[in-house]
Amino acid sequence: MCWHTCKRLIPVIDTADVVILGGGPAGVSAAVSAARCGADVILLEKQYYLGGLWTGCCVLPVIDTYGCAKDGQWKKCIFGFAQELVTELTQMNMCIQYQEHPTPDPEATKYVLEKYISETGVRLLYNCYAANAIMSGDRIDAIIADCKSGRVALEAKVFNDCSGDGDILEWAGEDFEKRNAHIGAMWRYGNAANLNRDGVNETAVKNVKFLHMHGEDNQDGLDVYNLTRLQMKYRRMLWEKAMEDKQQPGCEDLFLLDSPSQLGVRVTRVLNAVHNVSFEDSLKYTVYNDCIGLSGGDSTRTYKNGTLNGSERPIWQIPYRSLTPKRVHNLLVAGRCFGFDVGLTYDAREIGTCLVTGQAAGVAAAMASASRSSVRDIDVSELRKKLISQGVKL
Ligand SMILES: Cc1cc2nc3c(=O)[nH]c(=O)nc-3n(C[C@H](O)[C@H](O)[C@H](O)COP(=O)(O)OP(=O)(O)OC[C@H]3O[C@@H](n4cnc5c(N)ncnc54)[C@H](O)[C@@H]3O)c2cc1C
Repeated sequence: MCWHTCKRLIPVIDTADVVILGGGPAGVSAAVSAARCGADVILLEKQYYLGGLWTGCCVLPVIDTYGCAKDGQWKKCIFGFAQELVTELTQMNMCIQYQEHPTPDPEATKYVLEKYISETGVRLLYNCYAANAIMSGDRIDAIIADCKSGRVALEAKVFNDCSGDGDILEWAGEDFEKRNAHIGAMWRYGNAANLNRDGVNETAVKNVKFLHMHGEDNQDGLDVYNLTRLQMKYRRMLWEKAMEDKQQPGCEDLFLLDSPSQLGVRVTRVLNAVHNVSFEDSLKYTVYNDCIGLSGGDSTRTYKNGTLNGSERPIWQIPYRSLTPKRVHNLLVAGRCFGFDVGLTYDAREIGTCLVTGQAAGVAAAMASASRSSVRDIDVSELRKKLISQGVKL
């Protein structure tokens, strides 16, 4: 059964060149990068902090920053906005190296992300839960969001879907694939200096350690009953685990510092882009003339084809076409819902890659807004030049 709601007028509370949905790694990167190109930008976030899963799920290591180059050398491949963040957090003594991955403190990360948003003049709206898109044919006119001010509309020339779950894809009727994956959790202990069992990792803060739970396999990250069940189950498990870990010698004062305020949903809706990047392409070092960024991989990862050791993990190119929908003219997609095939799920949705795709989507959105053209018609060589001028290595 469905209810018809009464028709009512929804006030347009703001208008911008670019509206970005989601303040995770991809959304912040997109917002800052679009604003740096001179665009007037609004960033919508339902929580009261930035960073998405990075800060809200205690997911700390920025994976993908290294990979194996064609010459066989293990090299750094992610620069640009991602590098700016890591440099700043490291200078604050709030970022350590965990294996090869820069691993910042989540509170310091929230602080730094907000600082970039303020400095670039992005209008950030917290507490805005976007729920629909208003369309005119193949263009999005506005995003509708619920917040404490009521139900509101935000208009823009171009939109970025950085919701992680491809929410705008659904509302705009764009082509996507729905995927299930394991839903997990990360958490932190305080006073944990003496806890040294497997799976316990150092953080940038003395005596604070972070841990990781794989979680239940093949889960639907869009089913609200399932999400509530898992959130409650994991919170109980983390508490019980903390009580168990307190029994270790020297751990009497250990405590659960935080359980994730955002459940660890890995993947849900993924764009069927103009071109989806594939795992096989990454292994072949496929070169794209519309490459907008590079990504690496986790050297210890096991793939469906077997375990690849570090020197076999290629640095792979991300084509602009994988951020680009086939139908809607004024939408770009970045973060864990851009166009990649199932085999590339691990590398394509890591924080490093989300920062890279976000930066490109933001700059491209600013260009499409300025030229009033479809996102599929912007000058990609100009986009690449602008990204290079923002420190991105292609
Ligand atoms: C358990 C777990 C462990 C992981 N471990 C690592 C790791 O060690 N290293 C690594 O690099 N990556 C790791 N990842 C992957 C990585 O954290 C995510 O893929 C990455 O954060 C995705 O970034 P994003 O910006 O695309 O989306 P998200 O981080 O999901 O951010 C999306 C943002 O959009 C907001 N939003 C969503 N819908 C709406 C809406 N309708 N209205 C308003 N706001 C909305 C959300 O509140 C959120 O802030 C892990 C993921 C999980 C789940």
